[in-house]
Amino acid sequence: MSATYLEKLNERQRRAVEHGIGGDGVTVGGPLLIIAGAGSGKTNTLAHRVAHLIVNGADPRRILLMTFSRRAAAEMSRRVERICAQVLGAGSGVMTDALAWAGTFHGIGARLLRIYAEQIGLNVDFTIHDREDSADLLNVVRHELGLSKTESRFPTKGTCLAIYSRAVNSQTPLNEVLRSWYPWVSGWEQQLKELFSGYVEAKQAQNVLDYDDLLLYWAQMVGDPSLADDIGNRFDHVLVDEYQDTNKLQSSVLLALKPGGRGLTVVGDDAQAIYSFRAATVRNILDFPDAFSPPADVITLDRNYRSTQTILAAANGVIELARERFTKNLWTDRQSAVRPKLLTVKDESDQANYIVEQVLANRESGMLLKQQAVLFRTSSHSGPLEVELTRRNIPFVKFGGLKFLDSAHVKDLLAVLRFAQNPRDRVAGFRLLQMLPGIGPQTAGKILDVIATDPEPLMALGEIPAPPKSGPDWASFIDLMLALRKSDSGWPAEIALARSWYEPHLERMHEDAETRRADLLQLEQIAAGYHNRERFLTELTLDPPDATSDQAGVPLLDEDYLVLSTIHSAKGQEWRSVFMLNVVDGCIPSDLSTGTSDDLEEERRLLYVGMTRAKDSLTLVVPQRFFTGGQHAQGNRHVYASRTRFIPATLLQFFETGTWPVAGREASERSAQQIRIDVAARMRTMWK
Ligand code: ATP
Ligand code: MG
Repeated sequence: MSATYLEKLNERQRRAVEHGIGGDGVTVGGPLLIIAGAGSGKTNTLAHRVAHLIVNGADPRRILLMTFSRRAAAEMSRRVERICAQVLGAGSGVMTDALAWAGTFHGIGARLLRIYAEQIGLNVDFTIHDREDSADLLNVVRHELGLSKTESRFPTKGTCLAIYSRAVNSQTPLNEVLRSWYPWVSGWEQQLKELFSGYVEAKQAQNVLDYDDLLLYWAQMVGDPSLADDIGNRFDHVLVDEYQDTNKLQSSVLLALKPGGRGLTVVGDDAQAIYSFRAATVRNILDFPDAFSPPADVITLDRNYRSTQTILAAANGVIELARERFTKNLWTDRQSAVRPKLLTVKDESDQANYIVEQVLANRESGMLLKQQAVLFRTSSHSGPLEVELTRRNIPFVKFGGLKFLDSAHVKDLLAVLRFAQNPRDRVAGFRLLQMLPGIGPQTAGKILDVIATDPEPLMALGEIPAPPKSGPDWASFIDLMLALRKSDSGWPAEIALARSWYEPHLERMHEDAETRRADLLQLEQIAAGYHNRERFLTELTLDPPDATSDQAGVPLLDEDYLVLSTIHSAKGQEWRSVFMLNVVDGCIPSDLSTGTSDDLEEERRLLYVGMTRAKDSLTLVVPQRFFTGGQHAQGNRHVYASRTRFIPATLLQFFETGTWPVAGREASERSAQQIRIDVAARMRTMWK
């Protein structure tokens, strides 16, 4: 079969794409690792491989593709579709909704768990807690155990959740986690065990899962021989992008899914490992080949197609000084006379002004806002720039920052749907019941206790007499819940029902009801894009939409907007022009990360990831004075800063305040019974 798309690839990329695929249609080859530097076409190669599989007759519904974000999965699906259309012809319909198993580890885990829920003793209506809900539940358990009252120095709920999460994701015993990462709380080991064991029981009683459970239950499922084959046989091919940022739990799931490695392809770059703070381990990618016998085939790519030579030289300069030896030597034939700029400005306000001016100037010369991005170490760093962009009516979307779903009113509305889905979800229940007049935490707790043991909780709810002082609101609340339980209205009409019920509460609780109402309408529009309530709740919780300049949720994709992103969230992406904010010691490396040399090395890789996002132009900005905004041990204050220690000076071109045009500054997942017992019990004993 003629395949022009293969001709565009270099020899190694092509080898990776064709690996294990014979002329007799699709044969499933042995395991493959593509390990290569930034911009060398790893993701592009993976997309071509998926397309090539499909073109050669593979069933797209039996391909599992896992990426770092839902956005990346969507982008990959589009690329695959485009390539397939070239060969099979547009409108062949091969791809429409066919690459159904593309998503994040957590998203895929959630879907498999819904399918296998019964076999593992989960109620299929489970709801998922985001980090905030998880911390809240952990806090409730903590109070119940009396841990916070007696001991004021007990770690905060956030720290407790971080410890729990690290132990689960890194598959490491609690005492080791404490010794290595939280030495200052090691005295609390016994209490923490009690807390975590209580937390696991609470989650099971309430039929809720946290993010980590999506992986943990999945690992338990594929760890069980009777289910492992069933799940593994659903997929002929399993492909993973950004493998360097996966944790031990994820790699154990993957290896259990495809124990011999047949049909398994993983892709990544050890020099871009930036998620160890979330228990990711670069060992996964480094140890991958030897996890199989014979070992996996390894293909490396060394040509960078993204950046100009000067940008690549500066990025290589940063990584060459790393303690670890990364063996990849990237080259490019994109020549440029212009080195990346390092611009020193007086303060953050000047920094914001300069960037706005430059972004506008770029747009004047034909570069869309979408082709430009502003990256930063920490979400709070973009504050002054956001203000300036808003003031000057420049549309932007912010990735990795405060989420749209974090606002109280959006959480309220989602609590309505979550509670209807799973009335044992106490975090949602508390939130909701306390919106009603005359209902405080005690009454809410009693109501939730009563319905928790009933096989039909919402029916039980309807039989509870109206609490004193709740007035007509109680009756309308019961009506709503019974309507949602039957789900007669269908999706997404349900959300409109929930919204109109919520309306008076919104008016009563918030002064700025008008702006918030707009957000809820936006949520309703987002809901229309999902098949049903469960899918909507799951995906929104796992990968919420990002904030935009007009506070209206997801951006309209056909509009032009500037991208603001944390470096972590910019992974895998590229823009013609990239600006990096606060490229100063204290920010990158962050003051909070310089405790150990491992931390410092991760900061170095982070800078490398940021710089390698740029195609044509890279500008690093250094404000001499910057506001630490609470991340500093000494609190909020202005500090004097110097440029990051990571970049060799010779690779940059220096500018200072005043040397840039000031003009226009103003303008501008055996028997069901048996497995049920196994899984639940395994989870509970984990902390004993
Ligand atoms: P990262 O490490 O940042 O994730 P990557 O290795 O995944 O990068 P891609 O994003 O796949 O790299 O590719 C980088 C750029 O190079 C993209 O614009 C892609 O279209 C382009 N590219 C990749 N391979 C080729 C090729 N053979 N010919 C031309 N352009 C290519
Ligand atoms: Mg990539």
